[in-house]
Amino acid sequence: MRIMRTVEEHQRIVAGLIKARDPQCVPIADALGLVLASDVVAPLSLPGFDNSAMDGYAVVAEDIACATADTPVLLPVAEDIPAGRTDALTLKAGTAHRIMTGAPVPAGATAVIPVEATDGATDTVTIRAAARPGQHIRRAGEDVTAGTTVLHAGQMVTPAALGLAAALGLSELTVIPPQRVMVMSTGTELVKPGTPLQPGQIYESNAVMLSAAVRDAGAQVISSPMSHDDVDNFRAVLAEHARDIDLIITTGGVSAGAYEVVKDALAKQVDFVKVAMQPGMPQGSGVVGTTPIITLPGNPVSALVSFEVFVRAPLRAAMGHPEPERPKLTATLTEPLTSPAGKRQFRRGVLTGDTVTSYGPPASHHLRWLASANCLLEIGEDVTEVPAGTSVQVWDLS
Ligand code: AMP
Ligand code: MG
Repeated sequence: MRIMRTVEEHQRIVAGLIKARDPQCVPIADALGLVLASDVVAPLSLPGFDNSAMDGYAVVAEDIACATADTPVLLPVAEDIPAGRTDALTLKAGTAHRIMTGAPVPAGATAVIPVEATDGATDTVTIRAAARPGQHIRRAGEDVTAGTTVLHAGQMVTPAALGLAAALGLSELTVIPPQRVMVMSTGTELVKPGTPLQPGQIYESNAVMLSAAVRDAGAQVISSPMSHDDVDNFRAVLAEHARDIDLIITTGGVSAGAYEVVKDALAKQVDFVKVAMQPGMPQGSGVVGTTPIITLPGNPVSALVSFEVFVRAPLRAAMGHPEPERPKLTATLTEPLTSPAGKRQFRRGVLTGDTVTSYGPPASHHLRWLASANCLLEIGEDVTEVPAGTSVQVWDLS
């Protein structure tokens, strides 16, 4: 009998199949959540010019040095400078310019006095407080100096990173493009939700679940078709959808029964194996044309656990994510568990602080429990009994 493949061996083989795409320039709005493929060097300084941090009056600080509420200083208002005014102005000593937040500070002005310390007048302004030199002026380049590297290759693009790129006038960013994934479910018994069920039929749930998991990993789902357990139908559906994609994920049709459509259709392209784990023993991986394919088992819990264990991390790694793996923690088990000899068991669990409770039976069709779990408990192949109070490894899914 062939020895079962270990979890680590299958992880390595799947990881070897999933390849990063070449870096691409994309409009900045499309870069959110992707990883930068090159450094971003500031083409200009921020702020680009000295500008006012307040609505108020640009002045020469010495002109109002002795202004107080009781002894205000009166200055003629020579100019009005809203944000967006583009002509270069010079402030003469002994005058004020009314100025708005973000408007260019005129040459010669050394401070901005906030409107709240004045009467707000537009002809002659009454100023009731002194200003220290430089007050409320945002200096050119104090945030970013042109030529500085402000974002680094390998960094994930966040909303704030996009804001910075836009502020620097960049309309595109060079990123590692998202993986384009096809998620295909198989089974003659499957019916799309929203359609009435005939006896013996069930609602298709893997495609929507795995598509969401793929998106959650940061990749794109290009299509999520369904095939009957019929080799010709399977091949036709695959041929129709497997274009311009980077990864095919199938579910179902890989176990030991008859009508195992994925096994039957892809005997040449896919290496079908047994992995020493529960759930998720029947697995397969290979290449169709030039596209890698991972064939996951059909039971919904097996399918999602297999995605977590084998596909999610390499998928994220291929998109350059600095931390592709789920965080792995140690937690104290609240109750005793059993686990099959010779298989890595992944139980659904609820992690609360540093304790973990196994959640639901180990069988692979109990989707309800998975839906409310926030972690996977990983129990080693050589362990068959885990007493309460044991420290166990937990994959944090939250
Ligand atoms: P299979 O691996 O095709 O033998 O499927 C194993 C079990 O998972 C069977 O009970 C199937 O009905 C169920 N199953 C397979 N694919 C799906 C799916 N896409 N949605 C819901 N259940 C499925
Ligand atoms: Mg099936």
